[in-house]
Amino acid sequence: MLDRAPCGFLALTEGGVILAMNATLLALLAYERHELHGQHVDTLLPLAGRVFFHTYLLPLVAMHGKAEEIFLALRSKQGAQVPVLTNAVRHERQGQFVYDCVFMPMHQRSQYEDDILRAKKAAEEAIRLKDQANRTLEEIRVTLEAKQAELLEANTRLEALVTIDGLTQLKNRRAFETQLDFQIALVAQLPSPLSLLLIDIDHFKRINDTFGHPVGDHYLRTLAEILQQNSREADFAARYGGEEFAMILPNTDHLEALAVAERLRKAVETAAWAKVSITISIGAATFTPESQQKVAFVAAADQALYQSKASGRNRVTHANAATFFHANDP
Ligand code: GH3
Ligand code: MG
Ligand code: MG
Repeated sequence: MLDRAPCGFLALTEGGVILAMNATLLALLAYERHELHGQHVDTLLPLAGRVFFHTYLLPLVAMHGKAEEIFLALRSKQGAQVPVLTNAVRHERQGQFVYDCVFMPMHQRSQYEDDILRAKKAAEEAIRLKDQANRTLEEIRVTLEAKQAELLEANTRLEALVTIDGLTQLKNRRAFETQLDFQIALVAQLPSPLSLLLIDIDHFKRINDTFGHPVGDHYLRTLAEILQQNSREADFAARYGGEEFAMILPNTDHLEALAVAERLRKAVETAAWAKVSITISIGAATFTPESQQKVAFVAAADQALYQSKASGRNRVTHANAATFFHANDP
């Protein structure tokens, strides 16, 4: 009956001599029955297993009468390791102790364990690679952010370069044109008056001729500061070119424009100049959206400026109303 049992069976003397075995065990280890009968159990154990068997398993059985689910390896006739799960009990038969052992082959389980171990290693490797990839990604992100910040800074510098006049630090002609386009487009949407001042230094050539170009430059910078200080928050002062300046005055009708221009004119006239005092002439225009385009708007201010020059300089002329202000007005 035991020969057909689905586990290996072995009966040993107390000294480890094989008394009996079943066919399942013989098949498991590829032995013939006569090859094992009377042999010592060590024949069926690899070297490391022998020590374990004699110093642990047998003493355990001797002490408790049995041992259960002990994992060990047997050795087949060909020398292959055969992992088994072992239960053993001790009987007394005719005044002799006999050890009955059953062995459940563990091929499947050790295969599973190998698989699990391999899967665990693969998972660990995947985690390591993932961590490494994350670190690399983080480095790339940091680099990218630094580059973006650099780019933003470079763009800001570049934008300043293309919109700021180097000498006076006012907005330049290009920025003026953009702003004027923008303000004109705005007027079409929400009808609020828009005015423009063109400002030209009177007899500026004399400053250059008398004191030299560097002093002329200094005058231009000083004038820029005066324009800046006397402009309101929404006003847009720019260097139009050479010694000409412009001021865009949003939400400003022609009377207000005249007042602003007059304030500027007076501020320049009374400023503390490095050498001799200078004055400015101003041409003002107020945009009429129904009938006017940008070019005509600027031309109107320019024409008014010409009139200021022609009628004696140091004065303000408004194109629409041909209104004059000059130093001698009350
Ligand atoms: P007007 O009253 O008719 O405007 O006389 P003006 O001498 O100011 O007129 P004009 O246009 O004949 O002279 C402008 C001068 O401005 C000539 C030019 O050398 C000078 N100028 C233009 N740009 C600069 C600059 O960047 N620096 C200096 N120092 N001078 C400049
Ligand atoms: Mg000029
Ligand atoms: Mg001039």
